[in-house]
Amino acid sequence: MRMCNRCKERKEYSEFNKDTKSNTGVTTICKSCKNTQSKKLYQINRIERLQQIAEYRAKNPQIHLKQSAEYYKNNKDEIVIKRAMSRINNPDMFKSQWLRQNYGITIDDYRDMYSNQN
Ligand SMILES: [Zn+2]
Repeated sequence: MRMCNRCKERKEYSEFNKDTKSNTGVTTICKSCKNTQSKKLYQINRIERLQQIAEYRAKNPQIHLKQSAEYYKNNKDEIVIKRAMSRINNPDMFKSQWLRQNYGITIDDYRDMYSNQN
């Protein structure tokens, strides 16, 4: 039996991972504590990674645009299909994009104008 340094529970050696560098031949924290730790680390790393990507893109907009253009070139068919699908699924969203791009107005502006006419 061995006490886990994290949860302070006494557990069988089989409940610990092997560690050749340790005197006892097993790690100081049990497998279940190790799992919890790994999950937390994964979450933290994931958030940090996403922040890094966002910062990188903010600092290097031209690189991001180039990558997007490259991505578009390589996945054109897929993107066209996805856009067509989203047009069907979100007609309002598409209309608002179209209005913004062509007239510089939002769909709310459009609705206001439309209701003012009547
Ligand atoms: Zn433990």
